[in-house]
Amino acid sequence: MDQQFDLVVIGAGPGGYVAAIRAAQLKLKVACVESEARLGGTCLRVGCIPSKALLEASHQYHAAKHDLGAFGIEVKGVELNLAGMLKKKTDTVEQLTGGVAHLFKKNGVTRVLGHGKIAGPGKVVVTSGDGKTEELTTKNILIATGSSVAKLAGVELDGDRIGTSTEALSYPEVPKHMVVIGAGVIGLELGSVWQRLGAKVTVVEYFDRILPGMDTELGTLAKRILEKQGLSFKLGARVKAARRSGDGCVVEIEGQEPIQCDRVLLATGRVPNTDGLGLAEVGVAQGKRGDVIVDDHFRTNVPGIYAIGDVIRGAMLAHKAEEEGIACVELIATGYGHVDYNSIPSVVYTHPEIASVGRSEEQLKEAGIAYKKGSFPFSANGRAKAIGNTEGRVKILADAKTDRILGAHIIGHAAGDLIAEVAVAMAFGASAEDLARASHAHPSLAETVKEAALAAGDGAIHI
Ligand SMILES: Cc1cc2nc3c(=O)[nH]c(=O)nc-3n(C[C@H](O)[C@H](O)[C@H](O)COP(=O)(O)OP(=O)(O)OC[C@H]3O[C@@H](n4cnc5c(N)ncnc54)[C@H](O)[C@@H]3O)c2cc1C
Repeated sequence: MDQQFDLVVIGAGPGGYVAAIRAAQLKLKVACVESEARLGGTCLRVGCIPSKALLEASHQYHAAKHDLGAFGIEVKGVELNLAGMLKKKTDTVEQLTGGVAHLFKKNGVTRVLGHGKIAGPGKVVVTSGDGKTEELTTKNILIATGSSVAKLAGVELDGDRIGTSTEALSYPEVPKHMVVIGAGVIGLELGSVWQRLGAKVTVVEYFDRILPGMDTELGTLAKRILEKQGLSFKLGARVKAARRSGDGCVVEIEGQEPIQCDRVLLATGRVPNTDGLGLAEVGVAQGKRGDVIVDDHFRTNVPGIYAIGDVIRGAMLAHKAEEEGIACVELIATGYGHVDYNSIPSVVYTHPEIASVGRSEEQLKEAGIAYKKGSFPFSANGRAKAIGNTEGRVKILADAKTDRILGAHIIGHAAGDLIAEVAVAMAFGASAEDLARASHAHPSLAETVKEAALAAGDGAIHI
């Protein structure tokens, strides 16, 4: 193999693999170093994709058991085949990770299997599983090594009963009682999966609300809906310890009775992956969380070394990593590249879904920005009624003077898809009136977005 490259990307997650493909399209000679046999990173192997596969499967199971009667469909003898459900998830992961390998071949990206370490500017040493090393020389290095689960003092992870999201994607049986530590996105999604399949689920959260950081009105509504589904919450509760006890586990919470359970999921956040990368030796500056510090052009303090995705500042989201990967290699190849952080959506794939883009009401108040708000409930939308998904609402926040859209917050069926329209509108600098005047197909859930935009102006029609 010719070991001389224009760009060596370390990490083949959504940030790294997308950057590698885009760089190859821009005619750079690219290698991508990945220590795992399967490409696609956390997202494809143990994150976004397997969790969404299980969310969909568990939703269908739950719907078949409880919801189809409302449509005049009588289903008897619905049974869970957990092994079959897990296989479907694994098949999906295999197809998609295989797809990335295919895209590498198609675009001429050189795939290097092993652990990458920066040995100096322009030098990456790759150590394979059997201890063999090879050195790649390159004009530029892109760190896209992602993140892994943040540990919590006192929680004794054993890779089995007390585990992370990775274990919770593959429990071999439905837990009787699962305790989720952390009411963030991952905790709520995986808690929902196992609750739908029959587990009792208790979510313990240090803050006094779920989904910290998300628009408060939306968070409050989400908690009410999830509680109705059967999830139980202990908020403002500090977990002191979680450990094995006999066949099960015990979770100790400050000032409360300990909880006995058979599975614990630790989901209190993720930390950047920089161990063994050689950053200190090369002099790459890191922040307090261990993140790689970059400027607006993804440059570290060492010339020729860049970083993107979960390993740098900002939201830990696959599509944020992708945008950064593309912008970074476009900057390297052409001198131009940009990410519009203001219009990056975030989605919680519970049922109903919870989606946000732009600023929350709290953030606007804090920044002293005068805003107006329009909201519209799913219960007043014809399509939502027809498909039996009337829970939730759309809220659009627009500048009080200019009407420019500043944020949107949606809880409701397919919110994760509906938010895309607002994200595009925001990227184009649209006003709420622009959104309201655009024709939306009838009957469609997207009409809730149009109506919320109307409500931010003179008023919605259908309420
Ligand atoms: C359960 C779960 C569900 C999630 N759901 C969503 C979702 O629905 N939507 C969303 O946007 N985000 C979701 N995320 C977050 C998302 O997975 C991450 O934000 C995203 O994967 C980050 O991409 P990345 O490319 O920065 O890093 P990663 O995807 O973490 O990839 C980094 C890669 O680098 C490799 N690597 C690390 N160090 C080295 C080294 N030294 N040498 C070689 N290879 C190395 C790792 O093996 C890994 O494959 C979820 C995460 C989890 C855990």
